Amino acid sequence: MPELPEVETVRRGLAEAMEGRRINQVLVRRTDLRRPLPGNFAEALEGQTITRLSRRAKYLLICLENETVVLAHLGMSGRMVIEQGTDAETPARKHEHIVFVVGNGTVIRFSDPRRFGLMDLTTESSLASHPLLANIGPEPLDDMFNGPALVQRLKGRKTPLKSALLDQRVVAGLGNIYVCEGLFLAGLSPRRSAHTVGLGRANKLVAATKKVLQEAIESGGSTLRDHVTATGEMGYFQHNFKVYGREGEACPVCNNEIRRIVQAGRSTFFCASCQG
Ligand SMILES: [Zn+2]
Repeated sequence: MPELPEVETVRRGLAEAMEGRRINQVLVRRTDLRRPLPGNFAEALEGQTITRLSRRAKYLLICLENETVVLAHLGMSGRMVIEQGTDAETPARKHEHIVFVVGNGTVIRFSDPRRFGLMDLTTESSLASHPLLANIGPEPLDDMFNGPALVQRLKGRKTPLKSALLDQRVVAGLGNIYVCEGLFLAGLSPRRSAHTVGLGRANKLVAATKKVLQEAIESGGSTLRDHVTATGEMGYFQHNFKVYGREGEACPVCNNEIRRIVQAGRSTFFCASCQG
């Protein structure tokens, strides 16, 4: 599943191709995505100019001049590919569901074999109260996500810290990989009860989380599968994870064995010596 750094990488690619351009054509091949596509999807967008590409958690926001916003999620297997000099009608790949043609014939193809992705229409003014966004916590890279705010959000939570950080109400868009990496960098145990994190530890955890996300964004997002960036480029962005996926290997800090446990149905990788 694309995590926040991958979605941010896609956003940056799409921004270059779409911002300031007019949507000339929207071709809908399939409407039964995770949520049904709005019936007027193509009509609502055609002829509009894209003002900016934004992101909230793992949602891409395509903002238009008339205040309409396309809310898009890549789900488990969604891809956005940008092409020049092709036509919308000839599918470039299997499972291609929606095609946008913008400006002078730039084609943006959304494909999603598993169809857990979605696109919905909303407006600038109702964006924050959209059911998919209403209860989402602060963006991890925003200044709003800081030590005191994290302490506040973990207050009274008796769940393991790892599980609390995956809760989108605590912080937006964090997935399994970057939670494991952030906890390792901060030296905090994933098993620690969330409410025991005081300001000192919260400050460390916030700084560590921002650092692992920033590094992944700078390296172009990371994924364990082949990844198509928004520009259509194929390749592995296998980030150099310190603990994630490294069960049984040596901890890069203390040389003890990295362990894997299962918490709330998800694998957690950590070093029991370094993380207290
Ligand atoms: Zn260690």
